[in-house]
Amino acid sequence: MLETKGLYKIYKPKRGVPVTALKNVNIRFPDRGMVFLLGKSGSGKSTLLNVLGGLDQYNKGEIIIKGVSSKAFKQKHFDSYRNTYVGFIFQEYNVLEEFTVGANIALALQLQGKKATDDAINEILNEVDLTGFGGRRPNELSGGQKQRVAIARALVKKPEIIMADEPTGALDSATGKQVLETLKKLSKKHLVIVVSHDREFAEQYADRIIELADGQVIRDVERTAEVMEAAQPLTFSESGVEVQKGYQLTEEDRLAINQYLAELESGSFTIRQKQKASAGFAPTDLAKIPHRDGASFKLIKSKLPMKNAFKIGGSGLKHKKIRLTVTILLSCVAFGLFGLSDTFGAYNHIKTCTESMIDTGITYTSIAKSKYIEEFEYWQDYGYNLKEEDLSSFEEETGVHLKGVYQPIEEWSFSENLKSDANITENEAHLYRDSFTGIAAITEKDLEQMNYSLIAGRMPEGEKNEIAVSQYVAEVLIERQYTQWGKEEYPLFSGPKAIEGITLRLAGTDYTVVGIVDTKMDLERYEVLAEEETNLSTAEELVRYALEQEFAYASNYSLARVAMVSSETFDRMVSQDFPVITTYRCGLDYSNEYQYLPLHQVGKLSDFTDQIIWVDGVVRERLANNELVVSSDVLTGSFEPGTMNFTEAELADLAKEQGPFEGHIYLDSYREQEDLGKEVRIVGVVDVKGSENASFAVYNDDLFARMTDGGDGPYQFAVGGLPAEKSAVRQMVEYCYEEEGGYRLPLQNSVTYELDLVHESLQVLAKWFFYIGVGFALFAALMLSNFIATSISYKKQEIGILRAIGSRSSDVFRIFFSESFIIAMINFMLSCAGVAAATAVVNHLLRRSGILITVLNFGIRQMVLLFLVSILVAAVASFFPVKRIASKKPIDAIRNR
Ligand code: ADP
Ligand code: MG
Repeated sequence: MLETKGLYKIYKPKRGVPVTALKNVNIRFPDRGMVFLLGKSGSGKSTLLNVLGGLDQYNKGEIIIKGVSSKAFKQKHFDSYRNTYVGFIFQEYNVLEEFTVGANIALALQLQGKKATDDAINEILNEVDLTGFGGRRPNELSGGQKQRVAIARALVKKPEIIMADEPTGALDSATGKQVLETLKKLSKKHLVIVVSHDREFAEQYADRIIELADGQVIRDVERTAEVMEAAQPLTFSESGVEVQKGYQLTEEDRLAINQYLAELESGSFTIRQKQKASAGFAPTDLAKIPHRDGASFKLIKSKLPMKNAFKIGGSGLKHKKIRLTVTILLSCVAFGLFGLSDTFGAYNHIKTCTESMIDTGITYTSIAKSKYIEEFEYWQDYGYNLKEEDLSSFEEETGVHLKGVYQPIEEWSFSENLKSDANITENEAHLYRDSFTGIAAITEKDLEQMNYSLIAGRMPEGEKNEIAVSQYVAEVLIERQYTQWGKEEYPLFSGPKAIEGITLRLAGTDYTVVGIVDTKMDLERYEVLAEEETNLSTAEELVRYALEQEFAYASNYSLARVAMVSSETFDRMVSQDFPVITTYRCGLDYSNEYQYLPLHQVGKLSDFTDQIIWVDGVVRERLANNELVVSSDVLTGSFEPGTMNFTEAELADLAKEQGPFEGHIYLDSYREQEDLGKEVRIVGVVDVKGSENASFAVYNDDLFARMTDGGDGPYQFAVGGLPAEKSAVRQMVEYCYEEEGGYRLPLQNSVTYELDLVHESLQVLAKWFFYIGVGFALFAALMLSNFIATSISYKKQEIGILRAIGSRSSDVFRIFFSESFIIAMINFMLSCAGVAAATAVVNHLLRRSGILITVLNFGIRQMVLLFLVSILVAAVASFFPVKRIASKKPIDAIRNR
């Protein structure tokens, strides 16, 4: 079943001359029986066995296995051949010390893709007389027992060939005999090839002896059945000693001949025959050994079960605990920093904004309108008012219902209701503001939607002059001592609820406060701002500044400072005022001295034709290019209340005094400018209620449209509740950063404010952190690969053993990948925990110092990334060292070369 033809093996050592270890070896092995390869040390026995077993490669010739030539074999075919047909037994036993006896045997079975049942293992242990040894560890066994474990392991695969290289070499002769007995028993069913230098054992147990010298077969004999009768190698007679042709004398023969000679001399000789066992061997009759046609040749690919790969891989970690700990710690730190840099490197505006808003505890949604100024690449937030359509499309996209806040032209201040000589510092005045930012129509249902509640009274209704105020405004009224308009009485209030029922005079009209609303503003948080702070460190100043900004947004862009009115009151106010648009952006050169006048409020001619005092008495439908209509304060330069102090004639005179001059209108903060020409004249004066101090001007409708630039809605900003679900908040944040036709509706709160401030720096930092992270990941990869490389050098021999019992290179990969995988997973979990903790700590510290942005976001992304990078690093780190060893010839691995 196994045959070699013209086999050569030449060792080419790195130093020294090449050694021809096998020279033209032609042997045909039978299907079963015990064949001894006999020869002196160095004669090439091991070499032949290794080549026969596919552990080593030959240089010339071929091996024929079951009629199939090995000529086309690659290493993997040899691996499978060994796995399928060959059981190996070594002088040094080579059992895996990490595994119990049972597991050693089971592994060989599993490599063949078979199931290792307890029954199968026990049965095989019985066969080698090791009943009940399954649970023992190899280091609890004697040499002979170990060797029998090795035999059991070889046997369990039911190999057709068992190869044993000096199996008794390390054993005493009694134990050695036991092992040979076992092998002899097995040779009834298997082909057993035993390498030995012990002629006596060979002659005692062999069915056939092939003797090697200098890499060549010098003798090939088989045991003959008729030992006594037939061929006697030595015949002693009185005339001399007859030696059979082809027989070679043994040491014993020499002694026998000497004894015969001595007996002849002394005359004590009697005729006898040499009756020795060795006399039972005759040249092997090759004709009796059948040829095979290859029909029954079939290879089984080995497959190391993942569980075992893990076990062997994991066992590698036990040896170098300190080294392992250091490696894991260092690479954990590296991975951790990598993860941390990624939480930062993956900085995402929308995510950060969402997280920060939730972490900061912002309870409201507040938006304004913003336009992208291409020329300067920035978003301008002022001067673009929201329209009804903006609010409805916002609701459509985000599901958040918003209420527009309208800023009356005449400020709704209640300073007249506060004690004028109240001892109040500038800081206190800043914290307890005495005016409303605007008005909004809010019903109880709206409050519900915003998650706010009435703490006293009810919401305003109908045409009556009623308002509801926030708890904050109530606190202001108490703090700054409310008084009824014109009275010197300062009632004592028991708390904000008690404010209900008082009257406030706002823009000349008295309103009754009918309700108090809790808008969830944490006034206590900002109370430190009222205190005078001196000798602040820079850090403390920054904290204070951050808090001030937070307060500004919390009070200016929420309902805290909004006067809540009925929809009737709201509509009346808006329609009364509305044609005046607050712009903040426009400006006018209005005199010969090129005085610049910021135009806070503009209107369109068609809305004001009736109210204009035409200087020359001519009513115009349309203004010429060089004609201006302005409010009286522009003419008087006095900023005093408007037309009421001047007669029409006086105003006409003032207007005439001015011109003509060269004028320009700045449509957009100096950027876009409209030349009015050299002969500009003020042709009309117009004052609207509340527009004093406001530098008001009226333009043709088309110019007005350009000045207001699509932002000519009535609402300064709009407020609503914050969605309860994080995903909904995120969706809203996303929408608010989206651009549509050059506009967007940015969220207005302290978080978005801070975020916009640092957005660009964060982006730059994030980029750097990303590179730093990559650096750390590389460092971790180096650490790991170094660890694995050493681990592999420790494991070389085990790999050799595994290869000898049939596993392929890919199994070796499995082992080390699982080792790296285990490390990688420990790494992954530790660094995840580390990063999560560090993130929480850093965020907490930042938040405590007043920064509202949740800068570090540790989430699924980082976990997945850490996981992937860990695995990738483990894979890359183990690939090269493992490839080197996996591609080694099994015999080199086993010999640890
Ligand atoms: P045996 O097993 O009969 O003692 P070997 O097969 O081990 O003999 O060795 C045969 C010859 O090949 C010896 O001369 C030995 O020195 C040489 N040899 C064996 N292995 C190597 C090797 N890896 N490199 C170089 N020479 C070797
Ligand atoms: Mg040897």
